[in-house]
Amino acid sequence: MLLVVDQMRGDYIERYGHQWTKGLRRLVKQGAWYRQAAYTYMNTITCAGHSTISTGSIPATHGIILNAWWDRETGKQVSCTEDPKAQTISYGAPAKGGHSAFRLEVPTLADELRAQLSGKTRVVTMATKARAAIMLAGRRADAATWFDSGSGAWVTTSAFAAAPVPFIENFVKSHPVERDFGKTWTRVLPETAYLFEDAGTGERPPAGWSETFPHFLGGQSEKPDAQFYRLWGVSPFADDYVGEMAAAAVDALELGKGRGTDYLAMSFDALDSVGHAYGPQSHEVQDTLVRLDATIGKLLAHLDSAVGAKNYVVAFSADHGVAPIPERMMREGIETGRTSTSEIVARVEKALEPLLGAGKHVARMNYTDLYFMPGVYAKLQADATAMAAVRGAISEVPGVWRTYRSDELHSAKGASDLLMKAAALSYYAGRSGDIVVVPRPNWILVSDAKTIPAGSATTHGTSNGYDQHVPVILMGQGIKRGEYIDAASPADIAPTLAYLCGITLARADGRVLTEALQLPPAVQENSAKSSESAKKR
Ligand SMILES: [Zn+2]
Repeated sequence: MLLVVDQMRGDYIERYGHQWTKGLRRLVKQGAWYRQAAYTYMNTITCAGHSTISTGSIPATHGIILNAWWDRETGKQVSCTEDPKAQTISYGAPAKGGHSAFRLEVPTLADELRAQLSGKTRVVTMATKARAAIMLAGRRADAATWFDSGSGAWVTTSAFAAAPVPFIENFVKSHPVERDFGKTWTRVLPETAYLFEDAGTGERPPAGWSETFPHFLGGQSEKPDAQFYRLWGVSPFADDYVGEMAAAAVDALELGKGRGTDYLAMSFDALDSVGHAYGPQSHEVQDTLVRLDATIGKLLAHLDSAVGAKNYVVAFSADHGVAPIPERMMREGIETGRTSTSEIVARVEKALEPLLGAGKHVARMNYTDLYFMPGVYAKLQADATAMAAVRGAISEVPGVWRTYRSDELHSAKGASDLLMKAAALSYYAGRSGDIVVVPRPNWILVSDAKTIPAGSATTHGTSNGYDQHVPVILMGQGIKRGEYIDAASPADIAPTLAYLCGITLARADGRVLTEALQLPPAVQENSAKSSESAKKR
């Protein structure tokens, strides 16, 4: 079982762990906790993180560089899961579009389990985000379900199922999201149990909510509407729902009791929206985690009774962390701010005008990645002065630290410049931008620093510690509990689980976390002997 918490920083365990008494506490105390686990690459973004966890490889290998990128062939922006050949299958109101994992360049652990084990492996994933549920699954799934906030419906895709999956259909019918309409999100613990202030500096609550508790889960009308479905996804009620759906899947499919090794994975996505709006030091983030502690506790207890504690293994991680809110850091005298990608584009166009004439030369800036119109980058490569002018123009934008050319990132995976190396590990030829821009520490990239939308106080997606450092915990059969300070990354999860299942991943960049494995006595003795003789040699 894989549990992914969207936007959970690694240091939330140190900072807020004392507030937990149930599932999160059990993972920390009974699992193998990698205290220094961190992503190795730069673009610490949801779709990249989930793909790394599910495949054991990095974006330079699996190809999922961001949540969306500029498709040079079609001259269009594409999302990581968008698939013109797939149709959305709804469990409620009709929903648009189609999704699959076809842009993922390597198989997932779930794909390999299905392909390599003779027993029938069932693959079940759920999340509120399409990119989380789909990337955790891979090419096939018995049920991969996510919430389409646009239509307010739970959905899946024709890539996985020809028709609605009956047990999910029953679950959704008997657990309407609308049951949460009119509820109020209040703190679980007494107010004094929370660190920092409730209305913290720089918070930007989503439309409909204020900076302070309580938060009313209603809409703009008397009935569940677009605002309700959006706010529901920012509330811990969404995480509860995913946990309940997972428990229902265990019962309906009798997961863990079949002939094969079953695979159950879910992403708890509320923390991401909560963290973007209220920041990592908010009461809202703390309360979301306290509630998730209960949700995960309930799910683990359910597995204990349904499958038996000795019959499953859990991996717990996050797809990325999050930056502190800039205004909050300013208060402490730390240099920080917001870097506007719109300003970067404007300055590049201005610098190119005398060289290439008037007109549009930048196709798109997609977070850190800047894409030129066809032919422009080739001209810059042939003209060192022009290239220098463009990079110089970008560097003048407040908060820009480094710029890298795609042709230098292409061969920089072993670079001694660690910023460049991290950017190279996120680089995928053909998908990544022509120029990659790196903001300074504590600066965040936004589209326009002058107009900050509701719900976006801060963000993530850099190679800074607060974005890369996430929890990695393994717990259950075959795992040696304890605290580990060894270097580890979420890319190590799939290789370690593959080892425990006795299969080989075709392509993994991560390692097997051998020090956390409970080895049979004979193996322990042999590896002790071999390390002894290695020392003598
Ligand atoms: Zn996010």
